[in-house]
Amino acid sequence: VTPASGGQAVGIDIGGTKIAVATVDGNREIVRQGVIATESERGFPDALRRIRQAVDRALAESGWTADHLGGIGVGCAGPVDPARGTIHNPHTLPGWDGADIVAPLREAFRSPVRLENDADMALLGECDAGAGRGFDPVVMLTFGTGIGGGAMQGGALLRGVGGEHPELGHVSVDPGGPLCYCGAHGCFESLASGSALDAAARSQGWRDASELLNRAGRGEAPAVRLRAEALAATTVATASLLHTLLPERILLGGGMMDEHYDLFAAAATDAVARAAMVPKGRVTVARPRLGSRAALVGAAAAVLAREREA
Ligand SMILES: [Zn+2]
Repeated sequence: VTPASGGQAVGIDIGGTKIAVATVDGNREIVRQGVIATESERGFPDALRRIRQAVDRALAESGWTADHLGGIGVGCAGPVDPARGTIHNPHTLPGWDGADIVAPLREAFRSPVRLENDADMALLGECDAGAGRGFDPVVMLTFGTGIGGGAMQGGALLRGVGGEHPELGHVSVDPGGPLCYCGAHGCFESLASGSALDAAARSQGWRDASELLNRAGRGEAPAVRLRAEALAATTVATASLLHTLLPERILLGGGMMDEHYDLFAAAATDAVARAAMVPKGRVTVARPRLGSRAALVGAAAAVLAREREA
């Protein structure tokens, strides 16, 4: 059993389909992990009860008690309100709008609890114990159904007005481009996300993004052209982020990068190579190292870091 002084935390990662709960030690290693179904339609009180049970189970299996916890970090599919500790995501977590997850967990485990957007928690994890460690600032882009991301500067998450999380997927790439669900045209996400490539694939009678990228990999002309549009969008978006945030490191993660990282990294590196007004020789593009553990490790790091600050 790790002594409390080394740091013991619980990380919780809430997504639309599943919730992961883990005990994480001071070395940011996951000690025990459990996964439960989100089933948000059963209502928030039901999920909260099951989350508490999962935390109890992970603590017991780790030989830990809540008395020695440095805290509980919760990463949740956003939007969330970190200051109020409430969840506001009617798309992924219907019926939970405005749910307060922080107060009941704090009361149940008599431990500090911190809530953040899951993309921010993953970024925190990478900066604490992964591919972002030792770099500042760090920008992370996550390519999945949509494109999410975040930025760390001076060891703190970049926040906007009202503490809001930046929306890097909605950086404008092509004002004449396809309509994004946000109402704007030619957002990065509407050109290079998994769902953008799914739509491009269907326009050709193909199944999905993965078929499009596989066909492009074999050199089939229409697929290569559609893939090139997504890569060009990645170059343009990277150029915008590079010039506004001046990151020392850019991380490209998410499910799409498992197989296609090299192509997208080349597109991002192209933007870095072309930049004339920033110290581009110090900017590197890399892949995240923690994979699906990033948000859990980041959640633990968030509360342990806060404990150190206190
Ligand atoms: Zn948009």
